Amino acid sequence: MDSWSKPRVPALGFGLNTSNLSLTNSRTGAKEEVTRKALQRMYVCGITPYDATHLGHAATYVTFDLINRYLLASGAEVNYVQNITDVDDPLLERARRDSIDWRDLAHSQVLLFASDMEHLRVIPPTHYIGAVEAIPLVVDAIQSLQRRGAVYAIDQDYYFSNSPQSGFGELSHLNHTEMEVIFAQRGGDPTRAGKLNSLDCLVWMSQREGEPGWPSTLGAGRPGWHIECTAIALKYLSPESTGQYLIDIQGGGSDLIFPHHEMCRAQAMILTGKELATNYVHAGMIGLNGEKMSKSEGNLVLVSSLIAQGADPRAIRYALLTDHYRKDRMWSSEKLESAQESIRRINLALSMATVHETKPLINEIIDSLADDLDTPRVLRAVTTWVDKTLDGSTRGDAQELKDALDSLLGLQF
Ligand code: ZN
Repeated sequence: MDSWSKPRVPALGFGLNTSNLSLTNSRTGAKEEVTRKALQRMYVCGITPYDATHLGHAATYVTFDLINRYLLASGAEVNYVQNITDVDDPLLERARRDSIDWRDLAHSQVLLFASDMEHLRVIPPTHYIGAVEAIPLVVDAIQSLQRRGAVYAIDQDYYFSNSPQSGFGELSHLNHTEMEVIFAQRGGDPTRAGKLNSLDCLVWMSQREGEPGWPSTLGAGRPGWHIECTAIALKYLSPESTGQYLIDIQGGGSDLIFPHHEMCRAQAMILTGKELATNYVHAGMIGLNGEKMSKSEGNLVLVSSLIAQGADPRAIRYALLTDHYRKDRMWSSEKLESAQESIRRINLALSMATVHETKPLINEIIDSLADDLDTPRVLRAVTTWVDKTLDGSTRGDAQELKDALDSLLGLQF
């Protein structure tokens, strides 16, 4: 699938001796260093294209963009893979509700998402793969699971069978009852008759009347969501054959920890005998007026709407960086206004004939990002620099700072 155009990423002008990046791993709960390697493999779950792009999405993709930018700046090659779930129940339900063809709905939302990502200067993934185009891969992965005895059928649908060998539950640390509740809330079917374990997940859904289906050795149907990501990650990230981990980072919003990432991890474990990711990284949720921002609450704030109302995309990005990525937080129009004012002041400072010292600030930005993406600390340091520059302090190099802000934070001045 075509993604979006890549923003220019300036090379940093002086020997960037970056600190090693540490990120909080949801599996262990600890801040862990991302081992320096020539090639980093990162998988971030993409959207289901029917309500793109609300600020929760934006916060997630900006977070992983910061990680991507940091790894690139430290000299690594990053194989960044993202999927797009361009056929799934919520998309089909929305298309039915609005009496439009599901393909037209998906296409329009894929374009809108790409335009939003471009506005936010998010570097596109190396491989951007749609569920529909991945169907042959998914069928292969299901057959591999079948050969390992981890798939069974109910009527014409196929389920992945969770087992103790898959280490199921070691990512989310939830007990069985908690899992059942969340599974039901997030598209699972724990009570379906015939299941061996209430937490087994659908990997292939037989074609329903009035719904799309694709022919396969499993019969006509469509892929389940979890196996889609597992199959795409294992194919396009070309995992290493040695070592105990398949990829370096699997990421997404924290609402994906269970069931989605737990299922992907369990499937990858059965397929390969290895832990899917060294680091499982999750961004917090964005809310509005005290409520979680979600389709069901009907309180989505869309990036495209803010831009249409005249918001500077840099201010949206800046506002998202004012809190730590892992924190659940509220969005507000005041937050955006305050970010607009910060952008105005940074612009003003960078346009001065002379500016406050820049190298110490750039080092502070690097060190703060390395420490589990501490963007509030980054922005505090930038604000202090702006104050000093506007007070008349000199000896810095504005261009050097502009390049660093663009390269590391995706903020172009
Ligand atoms: Zn996924």
